[in-house]
Amino acid sequence: MIPHSRPFLDDEDYQSVLDVLKSGQLVQGEMVAAFEKAFCREMDLTGAGSASSHAVAVRSLGVAVSSGTAALHLTLLALGIGAGDEVIIPSYVCTALWHAIRYTGATPVLADIEGDTFNLSARDVLPRLTKNTKAIIVPHMFGQSADIDELLKLDIPIIEDCAQSLGSHYRGQTTGTFGVAAIFSFYATKVIAAGEGGMVVSRNRNLIDRVQDMRDYDEKETLATRFNYKLTDLQAALGMSQLKKLPVFIARRQDIARRYDHILREAGLPPPINNPDRDHSYFRYVFLLDSMDRFLEGMGRQRVVCRRPVFRPLHVYQEQPGFEVSNRVWRRAVSVPIYPGLTDEEVETVVSTMKKLLFKE
Ligand SMILES: *Cc1c(COP(=O)(O)O)cnc(C)c1O
Repeated sequence: MIPHSRPFLDDEDYQSVLDVLKSGQLVQGEMVAAFEKAFCREMDLTGAGSASSHAVAVRSLGVAVSSGTAALHLTLLALGIGAGDEVIIPSYVCTALWHAIRYTGATPVLADIEGDTFNLSARDVLPRLTKNTKAIIVPHMFGQSADIDELLKLDIPIIEDCAQSLGSHYRGQTTGTFGVAAIFSFYATKVIAAGEGGMVVSRNRNLIDRVQDMRDYDEKETLATRFNYKLTDLQAALGMSQLKKLPVFIARRQDIARRYDHILREAGLPPPINNPDRDHSYFRYVFLLDSMDRFLEGMGRQRVVCRRPVFRPLHVYQEQPGFEVSNRVWRRAVSVPIYPGLTDEEVETVVSTMKKLLFKE
């Protein structure tokens, strides 16, 4: 069977976790600090040749936490968001965003997406802005950046949700460096896997300090609300050793995507759009099919597990009318296996199975 996703783990990964186990320092110790630093270096938060890069080397602008959802929660709190505030998110996204906003007491406000990139539509956000709108969470869906320039023009603080876009760029600049803050996830199926895990990065030192303060409860001067959102050193060690492989991971995903693009074109279907001003890291390979159900079932019968990339849009849970693009995409989008752990042989199996089903259409 070819699963929909599978982490890529090698001897270096096993050894790095084993080293932490043997060290006896299991939680939020040196490895967590080292991971935060390495991650920020990867993100190039200060920009090349910036005068403040030395300061960053001393104090990291990233805070590692226990999950992407925890990262969102603490970022919203650090921005002072709470009851009475509104936060805009796309309807076509996983429910983690909804929950993180609800944890703070604020109200999630849903907006529609673009039909070609599956990302939040700035045009649809505009009429939904009110005097209570405090932030927009912008996920870069499936590994391709949202239209950041248009979203920044709305002049509302943007939290970039890079849970799916680690290593992808917009106009040559890393996603996660455009908003007031960005969050990442290291859940088992994400671009790099730590089992569970998350990160908040921001150039705003105050924001980072607040997130860091709320991440754990021990030895504080007051009883102000804090959380246990710590990352373990076991996870950080795995994250570190995975991070080293990031360029290889992305190159492999892009190679496989080229292969799938070719099949879709042959079948007369448009491959996933890859805007020339952004690179797609293909966290997911998603395309639209009128016969979605038949395709998912047919691939499954050949033991190639494909999925709907978003289980159910938020407006459907909420029974909110409208959201035509989210509806259209949700009823047609399929996601086929794409990850660095796929062998060449497995890629050929996916390709030949896709051919059988798509060329029959
Ligand atoms: C996975 C994901 C999250 C949540 O991350 P967890 O680590 O699972 O909490 C948030 N946003 C997006 C876009 C995701 O894909």
